[in-house]
Amino acid sequence: MALKPDSINGLKNLETAIARDLELLCYPPKPWTREILGRDGSLVSDVLIVGAGMAGLTVSFALLRQGINRLRLIDRAKVGEEGPWATYARMLTLRSPNHLSGPAMGLPNLTFRAWYEATHGSSAWSSLGKIPRLVWMEYLLWYRRVLSLPVENGTRLSSVKPSVHGLECRLIHNDGREEIVTTRKLVLATGREGQAHPRIPEVLRPHLGKTVWHASEDINFESLKGKNVAVVGVAASAVDNAATAIEAGANHVTLLVRANAVPRVNKPKGASFPGFVEGFPKLTPTMRFKFMDYMASKRIPPPRDSVQRLFKNSNVNMWLGAPITGAETNGEQLCLSTSKGNITVDAVILGTGFYIDMTAADELRPFLSKIMTHADLLNGEHINENNEWLTFPALSSSFQYQERIKGSAPYLRNIYCFSYAAAMSHGNVAGDIPAISDGADRLSRGLTGDLFSEDAEFHWKSTCKYEDFELLGDEIPGISDWDPPL
Ligand SMILES: Cc1cc2nc3c(=O)[nH]c(=O)nc-3n(C[C@H](O)[C@H](O)[C@H](O)COP(=O)(O)OP(=O)(O)OC[C@H]3O[C@@H](n4cnc5c(N)ncnc54)[C@H](O)[C@@H]3O)c2cc1C
Repeated sequence: MALKPDSINGLKNLETAIARDLELLCYPPKPWTREILGRDGSLVSDVLIVGAGMAGLTVSFALLRQGINRLRLIDRAKVGEEGPWATYARMLTLRSPNHLSGPAMGLPNLTFRAWYEATHGSSAWSSLGKIPRLVWMEYLLWYRRVLSLPVENGTRLSSVKPSVHGLECRLIHNDGREEIVTTRKLVLATGREGQAHPRIPEVLRPHLGKTVWHASEDINFESLKGKNVAVVGVAASAVDNAATAIEAGANHVTLLVRANAVPRVNKPKGASFPGFVEGFPKLTPTMRFKFMDYMASKRIPPPRDSVQRLFKNSNVNMWLGAPITGAETNGEQLCLSTSKGNITVDAVILGTGFYIDMTAADELRPFLSKIMTHADLLNGEHINENNEWLTFPALSSSFQYQERIKGSAPYLRNIYCFSYAAAMSHGNVAGDIPAISDGADRLSRGLTGDLFSEDAEFHWKSTCKYEDFELLGDEIPGISDWDPPL
């Protein structure tokens, strides 16, 4: 975005104010963690954060605020392509309202609003409405710049193994270089997809990449010009992909919806208040399951703007109660059978979302059988229901993966899950905008405490050695009994 002179001044003033806020908060605090030399003589990192989307950026700032500065933050994507915003997200605006403080970590000047007013003026703010998706991405890029967060783009975590000092992580850089990093703690902020698979109806699986695409793929919408398209689902991504197809010149789009009705109430939105954020992790596993399962069963409606965007077009229709039961190739087309009848289309887009499945995370694969899930925690309850919530990891109060069998994988305490997969343990504080700062704060405090307590002996010795004299011994005339002696 090219800024006008007023905006340049506005942004300069805001950045000066932020520098002052940070100075007043004594940021960055003095580093305090133990220095450890690895096998090659280099310093072991305190934390490696994988993923520099909104969650990774927020949690890195939270950790830096705790004085943990031997920190690396990597993302496999190129600068500006982190997360879904500038890649496969196809909505015009965010669903979240613009006033949320999101990743601001309690600093008013770090909010989206402060940035938007500085760059566009306060009158632009009053008429903004929902946040355009790419404007949100610009804000995240500014956030990382103004806080000097040390993002290393084009760097992917490929595998992890336990080591004497914590974990050995294999990184692959975009230029093909490989690097082994020893870190004491690993935070997986790899987004929803990081530990999830796209939901693909089995009957459509053989047609993937030919006539069928999942909405998270890089779809060539130009090629849909003049074509008949089926979009599966009625969630946000289904509706926005359908609208994108129509806007790209598709001849006709049919939404094929398994459910008999379109949901209208976003239950998780009603669960976004401080009591829920703080209290959810304190609930019993059974009660947590009850909340999550109920909210999911009510499904999340597509945003009103997206529905209006799609249905203002006349060449769109929707079949409710129409799960796909079969798919057969018919020349270059696909004939889909549904319980409401058959339909022949040129292309199918799956707006079916993702389901959490830790097998999707390469880095966790060697440890999968050792990680405690909610199926373990719930002790057989709901076990016959094939319920997705059961596969969610059962995390500690600091977001650490935990051992299924005590003592079988102690290294798991060094791996922290900071993505939507944390939702069954912590509520939705690691996946979406509303409570991301609460989640980052909770994780950073937990991890900070973990680093300290694991080094209790070292900190004990440092406490014994600590000698910063407050009294110099010349304050009370004639007294020579000082401890320690002069
Ligand atoms: C279409 C769409 C619309 C959405 N709209 C909203 C909304 O309005 N409001 C809202 O609150 N949420 C919304 N969300 C949810 C949104 O995904 C999250 O709010 C946000 O992106 C979560 O941030 P994150 O950092 O957890 O994940 P992401 O933004 O997905 O970031 C994860 C990062 O991890 C990186 N990564 C993954 N694996 C590796 C690896 N092995 N090595 C290195 N890097 C890796 C990825 O490149 C990525 O940049 C939307 C999601 C989608 C898909």
